Formats: sequence, structure tokens, C-alpha cells
Amino acid sequence: MDHRKLAERLLPGEYPDLSFYEEKYPPRALPKGAEVTRLAPSPTGFIHLGNLFVAIANERIAHQSGGILYLRIEDTDLKRKVEGAVEAVKNALRYFDVKFDEGAEIGGDDTYGPWYQRSRAEIYRAFAKHLVAIGRAYPCFCTEEELSALREKQTANKEITGYYGKYAKCRDLPEEEIYRNLDAGKPFVIRLRSLGDPEKKIRFQDEIKGEITVTENDQDVVILKSDGIPTYHFAHAIDDHFMRTTLVLRGEEWLASLPIHLELFDALGFSRPRYGHNCSLMKQDGETRRKLSKRKDPELSLEFYRKEGYYARAVKVYMLTLLNSNFEEWYLKNPDAPPENFKFSANKMSKSGTLFDLDKLNDISKNELSKLSAAEMFDFLQSWAAEYGSEEEKSRFADREYFLKVLDLCMGTSGKKRRKDFVTASQAMRAIAYFFKRVPREDEPRFDEQTRREVFEAFLRSYCFADDAQVWFSKVKEVAGSLGFAAEMKDYKANPDAYRGSVSDVAELLRIAVTGRANTPDLYTIMQILGEEETRARIEGALS
Ligand code: GLU
Repeated sequence: MDHRKLAERLLPGEYPDLSFYEEKYPPRALPKGAEVTRLAPSPTGFIHLGNLFVAIANERIAHQSGGILYLRIEDTDLKRKVEGAVEAVKNALRYFDVKFDEGAEIGGDDTYGPWYQRSRAEIYRAFAKHLVAIGRAYPCFCTEEELSALREKQTANKEITGYYGKYAKCRDLPEEEIYRNLDAGKPFVIRLRSLGDPEKKIRFQDEIKGEITVTENDQDVVILKSDGIPTYHFAHAIDDHFMRTTLVLRGEEWLASLPIHLELFDALGFSRPRYGHNCSLMKQDGETRRKLSKRKDPELSLEFYRKEGYYARAVKVYMLTLLNSNFEEWYLKNPDAPPENFKFSANKMSKSGTLFDLDKLNDISKNELSKLSAAEMFDFLQSWAAEYGSEEEKSRFADREYFLKVLDLCMGTSGKKRRKDFVTASQAMRAIAYFFKRVPREDEPRFDEQTRREVFEAFLRSYCFADDAQVWFSKVKEVAGSLGFAAEMKDYKANPDAYRGSVSDVAELLRIAVTGRANTPDLYTIMQILGEEETRARIEGALS
């Protein structure tokens, strides 16, 4: 068989010599040990926590080593392409502070672009032509129907499905038949002629999983589809080579394709990058652990974190906690250091599934938000509200001074001890809503209407806005005492049956009347912030 002639027939025309690409995309001039990593999303419009998980690892490894992180868009599958998806990916990653150095509209060095696979068609074709010319690839004329019939037959026989060995019908088609098909204009794909032996195992050093054993590939995978567009496998090998990737760190769902990739690198004559396969995020679901699922778990989508208003650094800290087993301890010792100062290592990444726990993230979030100043919190809430808040929530930011007073109280920024009431922006905005409007009661008062009326009327008679906290509290005690509540807690505890309740019950009734809740920061200060008129109006409102 004249392979060169066949290559010319399949992919006619002048293609640059392969050395042209080696020179066009030369090895990068980076210091020794610098890693080049990448994120290679398909623009399907869905970017999830698993993508962020692996993105943070790639970012750390690249930047910590003085290397490069780039963004490549794997848009070979037009059917799955969604408008605006690339922007969505970039926005999501930017929010979580994953910074790219190069890539699709990143604005960095473009030497290794173009970054969209559809714009690189010529390179893939040049290499496919080369593989045909050396006998390592061939045209396949099998139709969709034939391939699905094959799949059914293999499934029925409980065999591995695919195009391989004795099932690779077009692998050894006689030359005349190939040309007859081509003359007849039959559509074809180009397949790799695999030389692998499925009986053979390969030992492989995975950067995360350590030494693993995989089976040699024997699938004659498609490298160019009938429209001349490459498959993911083929494009990935060529791009990772010419973008001079040193470490391919990706989700473990790609581990099954690794043998194909290894064979492609070898067939193309490229030296292989190192690979690391990151474990999947799991969720405890009753007794069992399962992978986070797009259908069942809203928290898989990154959009969820932005809508809820998770603080980006908190999510990052949690991701790092899950990624590197020694991060948590380091962070405990260095709570105020930028997480970037932690020495990240691929071999400390978990080898099997990582349990994702929203409660744990929420704890970290509370902690991170409690480190902010009131002004930083204001900015964070404002930018969240601008994107996701209601009109009413947006309007709260008009009076910055007032808002800062609220935050100062609710965060305890001027007190001795910081409060940890805030988990996310949306939750914080709900938690402070009563400072901006009258809200429906969330907690039910524990006393009947008659008792409440007595308490409110007595309080309003004695309430004076100019009182300081101490005077204010002594008046609340007087109200309590005058109505048969214990003014002192110790009296109440000693003899609870002698009283209707205690001063703390009186305060709770007032609290619910003013804020709608039984638990809030200091009530005196809340009344000071709301002002006399509003405070009185709310208590009077609670009477009617
Ligand atoms: N385009 C693949 C994806 O959507 C990238 C896989 C890889 O990182 O090699 O996940």
C-alpha cells in the first residue's frame, strides 16, 4: 500500500513540514522546574465545582513554580457548544481568583495560540496526514448504523465495545476498495491504527495517584471526524505538545482515556507530558457516598456559589483544604496569610474520592467573613447585590454610614469579640433586613397578647432615646419587676415559680417586636441605630 499517496488523497494540498510547527511553537524559555499547566474546558455552558477544584490545583502548581497557566477552549464538538459559555467560564474562574497567564482572550503572550481548537484545524490535519503517510492512520467508511450494530453485538456478547482488533473492519481494506469508496464520494473518518496489545499492562506514574497500572490501548480511535475536525483525544495530544504543557492535571474521569493518549503521543513522536488525575468530589448521601451530581446537587454548579454569595476566598480555602491534606493545619497556624503562601504539592492530593461537605464550607465561610472590616464587608455585599440582589436590597447601600453602623454591630468589629453571624452575602442580607424595613416575624413570642401589651406599654412609657446602655437596661429591669417578672436572673433561677418569667423574657419580647427575631446582636444598639421614632413605631405596631 502506498501510504503517502493515500495521505495525499485523503488530505490533499500543501501542509507545512512538521518541523515548521516545532519551530513555530518552540519549547518555552522558562526556568528549570517551571510547570506549564492548563484548563481546557469545552464550552458547554456548565462549569462546576469539579472544574474549579482542578483549576485551583493547576493554578497553584503553575504559579508556585514560576510557570504558566493557560486557558484552551476545546470546542471541537459543535453540538454541545453554548453561546456565551466561554465568558461564563472566565467570569466564574475570575471570581474565584484563578488567574490565567495566556489563553482565549486572556491578553497574555499569544505565541502558543490560537486557543480555540476550531481555529487550529490546519495543525491537526497536517499531523493526521502525517500519520496516514506513515501507515499509523487509515480512513474508515463505516456508517453510523454499522457502528451501532457493532456496539449492540459487542454488548450482547459481553465484550468491550469499540473499533478494535477483529472488529476494525476498515483497518485492512484493500487499496482498490479504499479508492473505490473515495471515488464514490463515501464519507470517511480517519482512525488511528493502534499497535497496542490489550493483554499488556503499562505501569504509569501518575502525579496524584502514584504508580498505577493501565492496559495498553487497542482501540482504533477516530482522530479526524468526517468534517475534518479532530476528536478530543487527538486535539489534546497535539495541543498539549505544542502549547508545551508539562503537566496535564485533570479529573479522574479521563483516566480511562489515558492509554489512548499515551499511544497518540508515541505515534506522533512527541515526548509525553506528565499526567495527574484528580479524584472526584463525593457527597455523603445517607449511608452511601456518591459523586456530586448535576441533576441532584445544586451545589455542584459554580453559579450556586455566586448566587448565594459565597465569599470567594472561603471557597478557595475550602478547596485547598480538600486538595492538600496538610493545608488545614498550615492555615490554622497562619490564619491571616494569603493562601498562596502555602506550599502546594500534587502528591499530597487525595488519591481517591474527596468528601465535599457544605457544612464545613459554611464554617470556613463564617470564619473568613469574620476577618473582614465593616468597610470590606460593605463592598462585598454591595457587589453581590449589584448582580444578584433584589431592588430593595440594592437600595440599602444608598446610606453607607448607616449600613456601616449595622455591620459594625453585627460583626462586632468594634467590640472585643468578633461575631460570626454571616455565612454568605445572601444570608447576611436576610439577617440584617430588619435594619432596613419591617420584616415578618420569624420567631413566635412565648407570651400571650395581654402580657405583651403590658410589657410594651410599660417599656414605651419609660423609654428614652438619650439613655445610655446601662440606664436603658436598668429601665428594662424595672419594667420586668413592675410586671411580676424577675428583674435579676439569679432570683428567677432560685425560684422560677414565683415569677411570670425573667428580665430576659421581657427583653426577648421587645426584641421580637423590634426585629422579628428572638436572637440578634445587642438590642440597645439596634434601637440606637433604628432611631427613636422607628423603634417606638415598631413596638406600637406589635401592639396592634
Ligand atoms: N475538554 C475536556 C473537558 O471538557 C478537557 C479534558 C482535559 O483536561 O484534558 O473536560
